[in-house]
Amino acid sequence: MSKDNSIYNTFARPDITFVRGEGVRLFTDKGEEYIDFAAGIAVNSLGHVHPHLVKTLTEQAEKLWHVSNLFEIPDQTRLAERLVEATFAEKVFFTNSGTEALECAIKTARHYHYDRGDEERINIITFEGAFHGRTLATIAAGGQEKYLEGFGPKAPGFIQVPFGDWDALLEVVNDKTAALLIEPIQGEGGLRPVPYNELRDMRKLCDDNGILLIYDEVQTGVGRTGKLFAHEWANLEGQSAAPDIMAVAKGIGGGFPLGACLATEAAARSMGLGTHGTTFGGNPLAMAVGNAVLDVVLEDGFLIEVQQKAQIFNQKLGALVDAYPQYIKGIRGEGLMLGIECEASNLAIKDAFLEAKLLTVPAGANVLRLLPPLTLSEDDVNEGIKRMDEGLAALAAKDK
Ligand SMILES: *Cc1c(COP(=O)(O)O)cnc(C)c1O
Repeated sequence: MSKDNSIYNTFARPDITFVRGEGVRLFTDKGEEYIDFAAGIAVNSLGHVHPHLVKTLTEQAEKLWHVSNLFEIPDQTRLAERLVEATFAEKVFFTNSGTEALECAIKTARHYHYDRGDEERINIITFEGAFHGRTLATIAAGGQEKYLEGFGPKAPGFIQVPFGDWDALLEVVNDKTAALLIEPIQGEGGLRPVPYNELRDMRKLCDDNGILLIYDEVQTGVGRTGKLFAHEWANLEGQSAAPDIMAVAKGIGGGFPLGACLATEAAARSMGLGTHGTTFGGNPLAMAVGNAVLDVVLEDGFLIEVQQKAQIFNQKLGALVDAYPQYIKGIRGEGLMLGIECEASNLAIKDAFLEAKLLTVPAGANVLRLLPPLTLSEDDVNEGIKRMDEGLAALAAKDK
């Protein structure tokens, strides 16, 4: 473990210090080269120091860093318009993080009902294994005891049901339900996808009962699954799976802290003057970078390429499953949000990969996440697979 004693002891860190990045690669202070399939937990969507992002950020840094939201920020208007153009949404509120995007989503849902005179509709239904962030409201939403313990009373108005248990869901839906909140694919929870038909059924359940549907696409969004947003995979002609409200962050800033809450006009209408605010959210530096990320992700063919690379990656991972059944049970996920279902401890396998100079991210359900930059090349895939193979071979030699 490293010795940064003046930092809160909230993180367990290996003794590795990265000082430079380029594409899918990270370099340590000792000049060692790592393949980064963690991408800052799905944040470095375009890899490290992407030229277009560097140029945009440095140009903006010479013009204007920050003005408050008391004034118009042209790039903010532009980024909101582009997000509206590309999604179900009609309104956007910018934040600095995922958890703040969720806070805005939760407040928007409750205020929508309040504004209609339905003040009792405050309950947000969430799903076991969920992760929505670390504020007091979002740990209540996530419902995980390990994150709630010791932090006082759990914020009221969050009800959790088992993942995929439709009967349990129907049982808790009533006239106090404000919203359902769900990740289309659970990230921290272990890359558990919600079946597309269930997303559509939830849309219908919400419509039938005057409930709002909130997606947490903080991890799944901005091209990660090969669509701009993961729930788009579930849209059918004439049968939408679109939400009323959606939280976005991570990949949208490409490494710059940036989040957004997207909503329909109807859902956001009651969020009028003074109902919500932020000092930093949507400032000129963040907005310049957010627009630059969209320049790349919305380019013709970019998402198709993500899908193609994901397919190649998946095939090659399949070969690893065949070669090391004692360590890997299977692969799950969508696009470049992939999870290795581990047979041995996911932490042991993460360490074996780290030894082979490859970064991955552990998740729940004994899964190891692969969240490479969306810009990785086929050569990068091959190099990553080679290192995974090396790591697993070394583990096998040790375990003999
Ligand atoms: C990371 C994450 C969050 C929290 O985002 P922060 O930027 O860490 O606040 C919320 N929901 C999901 C699905 C996430 O992956």
